Amino acid sequence: LAERVSESVLEVDFSATNEQRALEEEFSAFGREVLTKLAHRIGGGGVSIRDVWRECAQHGLHGLVVDQTWGGRGLSASAALAALEGLGYGCTDNGILFAMGAQQWSFTLPLIRFGTHAQQAGYLPRICDGSLIATGAITEPNAGSDSLALETTATGAAGGYVLNGRKTLITSAPIADWFLVFAATDSDSGIGSTSAFLVASRQPGVIVHEPLMKMGLAAADMGDIEFRDCRLDADALVGEEGGGYAIFSTAMEWERTFILAPALGTMRRQLERCIQHAQTRRQFSHPLGDFQAVAHRIVSMKLRLDTSRLLLYRVAWLKEQGRPAAQESALAKLQVSEALLESSLDALQIHGGKGYLVREGLECDVRDAVAARLYSGTSEIQRNNIAASLGL
Ligand SMILES: Cc1cc2nc3c(=O)[nH]c(=O)nc-3n(C[C@H](O)[C@H](O)[C@H](O)COP(=O)(O)OP(=O)(O)OC[C@H]3O[C@@H](n4cnc5c(N)ncnc54)[C@H](O)[C@@H]3O)c2cc1C
Repeated sequence: LAERVSESVLEVDFSATNEQRALEEEFSAFGREVLTKLAHRIGGGGVSIRDVWRECAQHGLHGLVVDQTWGGRGLSASAALAALEGLGYGCTDNGILFAMGAQQWSFTLPLIRFGTHAQQAGYLPRICDGSLIATGAITEPNAGSDSLALETTATGAAGGYVLNGRKTLITSAPIADWFLVFAATDSDSGIGSTSAFLVASRQPGVIVHEPLMKMGLAAADMGDIEFRDCRLDADALVGEEGGGYAIFSTAMEWERTFILAPALGTMRRQLERCIQHAQTRRQFSHPLGDFQAVAHRIVSMKLRLDTSRLLLYRVAWLKEQGRPAAQESALAKLQVSEALLESSLDALQIHGGKGYLVREGLECDVRDAVAARLYSGTSEIQRNNIAASLGL
């Protein structure tokens, strides 16, 4: 029991390397000077999501942890975290950061860890150069938190498979070229019944539905995908047949940590903005920061940021040691997503009525942050997983 409760708590090194500092600065500048401006011109401003994707590729963003052989940057986990924190600090468009994160952690990472050499050679260079948009598809109308209860089936036929079913709430579905689709290959439910397949969005039997309207993350499209007798060759299978759960759980350890890494930058930006506002805005002949209620709110924002950063870097460190991080990644996801929403609300409150104005960008952060408690496993599911890891 003592091990479960305190494992990896004391194994830390707090110093940032020169590489991490340089990456943080590099991606922060890219986010501020290039990505935010481009993202704001998507649609009406004559910029397409593919233009943004290609620009990010020029900067190595799609292949942060992809080996250099395939055109990636080959960063370590903690170096990738530093780059993503910088990106979130510089780029104010959370939707575009989320869409790219979804590709990186739900498609690219599973291929790095489980793809054959031919699959890696076929997809990773095109992911890295931005010519291909891809995403992972697990959620179904009747399989959300209960992610193994899949009704989409992949039935063995003529040396390949036939895929039938429907996926919902899939990030980038309306724009993606490829999906990593999880489907049941065995009628028995359970760990060995799921497999993962590479499916092209434009192949026969794939119907991509209209984009779903949502509350936030505007630049990240979302949609449903339907499969009707969609024929797959045997080499569409990633990993082993029945090995889908291993892929899912490995990818989730990364996704739950790294998809929220830009949130560190967002929270840092909010904190700095709130301190400045509390120092300059005066009421009752005092700067707002003189009022303890305001100052304490800002202290809570700082505490959330630092706690979030420590938990994320702990997972990165564990991954670099090749160690599992199921409990630690669930703790990190839970903390960062809850912190992001609370701090986004605090930032709005500290700015008063002005904070409610769209032009200030603070209300947008709140709407975007609500999603963080839902995707990659809800906060309740993270708590369930942590409780189970504690033997409860
Ligand atoms: C912005 C966004 C992007 C997404 N992108 C993708 C994607 O790219 N690919 C993909 O496959 N999916 C994606 N999803 C789907 C996401 O993974 C699911 O929404 C999530 O897993 C929850 O499933 P659900 O929506 O069906 O909710 P449900 O499972 O129906 O849950 C509803 C509520 O009940 C609670 N609940 C359920 N079971 C339990 C339990 N055992 N104990 C306690 N509480 C419980 C939940 O926490 C939640 O509050 C995305 C979702 C969002 C919001």
